Amino acid sequence: MSVSIYQLGYKKLSQIIFEWQAADRASLLALFIVMEITMHWLWCLFVWIGRDSFDGYVDMVLLYPSWLIITVIGLFFWWMVGHLSHIKNDYKRLHHWQIVLIGIYSLYIAIVVLVMGHSSLVSGVSLVGGTMLAMMLVRRRYIWYAFLFQIFLILLVTISPYLGINLPNMRQLTNTAVPLGAYSDQGYSEMVSIENAIAASIFQDGTLSWDSINEIRRSSIFFWRSTHIYLALPKAIFMVYVFSTLLLILDKSRKEILQYASHDELTGLKNRRYGLKRMKQMLATLNSAQDYSVILLDLDLFKNINDNYGHDVGDQVLKEVAGVLTNTLGEKNCVSRYGGEEFLIILPDTPHDAAMSIAEQLRSEIARYVVQVDNGPNFKVTASLGLYTLTHCARAFLKQEYLATAPKDATTLPIKRRRTKSRQKGQLMTRSCDMVRAQLPIDTCQRLISIADKALYKAKAQGRNQVVSANQMPDTDSDIVHSIATNVVCV
Ligand code: GH3
Ligand code: MG
Ligand code: MG
Repeated sequence: MSVSIYQLGYKKLSQIIFEWQAADRASLLALFIVMEITMHWLWCLFVWIGRDSFDGYVDMVLLYPSWLIITVIGLFFWWMVGHLSHIKNDYKRLHHWQIVLIGIYSLYIAIVVLVMGHSSLVSGVSLVGGTMLAMMLVRRRYIWYAFLFQIFLILLVTISPYLGINLPNMRQLTNTAVPLGAYSDQGYSEMVSIENAIAASIFQDGTLSWDSINEIRRSSIFFWRSTHIYLALPKAIFMVYVFSTLLLILDKSRKEILQYASHDELTGLKNRRYGLKRMKQMLATLNSAQDYSVILLDLDLFKNINDNYGHDVGDQVLKEVAGVLTNTLGEKNCVSRYGGEEFLIILPDTPHDAAMSIAEQLRSEIARYVVQVDNGPNFKVTASLGLYTLTHCARAFLKQEYLATAPKDATTLPIKRRRTKSRQKGQLMTRSCDMVRAQLPIDTCQRLISIADKALYKAKAQGRNQVVSANQMPDTDSDIVHSIATNVVCV
């Protein structure tokens, strides 16, 4: 089996987000920071090695203190990686250290952006990407404050030249000896224009050739752009990878949540809540000529299976019976696990006789099915079924009865009416369909289930492994529910 790097990343990231402790996540953030600082440190080393070629456009006086600061901060964060994972259970200290971590990192980024030139690439990636990544790993409130602090620093750096403050900047044209000390307030295009103007003025004096000045300018621009790409792009690629993985996690989690909310974990069938919801939806979408059947199926003497073979075999039986039910029933019907060993089956648009034959088929399929048990004798199970068909006439009766007894506003409660612009007839049909929906009592489904349950009870009493129809029960129960079942005659 091949596992893609994407899957690995997905698994690891889900683990970090959902399973890791806060201290470990903060420690991981410190490690990421160490990696970033190491890249800056290597950049300093690179400049130092090529100092003879770079001193035309890198201020070497500023390089050494920057390098020292980067080293000290890098060592500090390296120490933090170990320290944070040692204070797992001391939440107060952990919070303090998280603040220190974020605070020092914000300062560090501000210094880098200031000293290296605040390229929109570096500051953009650090500000947005860094903030989002950090929010996944440490307390979001702290990151939010650090984000605001960074914005404040960027604004400060931007306006400082206009306040007469000359901030240090490593980007210099030192060997042209022009009186332009700092570039911290310039964008790229402005800098290029200034450098062109300098080059032109020097060319006029004849101290340097036009070509050599142009060469310095080109190298300087190339060097600083490469530096900013080096500092920003790996981070940007990493962030995009992390966030695409995060979206995958969200997608999968959403599917899982929906699955848990609507499905029974053991059998994989729809659960009771979802079954009842579907039952209501199916009832609401019937047209005035359609019958609607409900079956309640209960496994016979299931307790004995648990007692004789163990709970695991009981579970296996439930799963296999669920399989038999789904294989036997068509797509348009709905089967859900209603209780322990009880299943609710809805057959929309199914008249009584058709429903009876489906119920009989389910009963005989289950009775025929052989349960094969590891290290034990095979056996069979049976089921009893109670059925009730709400004919379209009974539905109309229920509607009339409800209209006559229910308060007026209860019968006309929020119904989204579909608008058919043309055709008077179409409008009337839509309206009458909505009326039917509105005028069925809210507990109709429960009442139907309770009628089917009476039939199921009778099937058990008559010796199990059989189907009993409530529509055919001669009982004289005065229950209103029962009156629907027996007194309405379709003409
Ligand atoms: P009857 O024919 O009258 O329905 O008898 P019965 O034994 O099937 O009925 P009863 O209600 O007495 O027992 C149902 C048993 O189902 C009891 C319970 O332990 C078992 N059960 C409920 N849910 C599960 C489950 O998820 N797994 C297993 N293995 N057993 C379950
Ligand atoms: Mg049972
Ligand atoms: Mg039961």
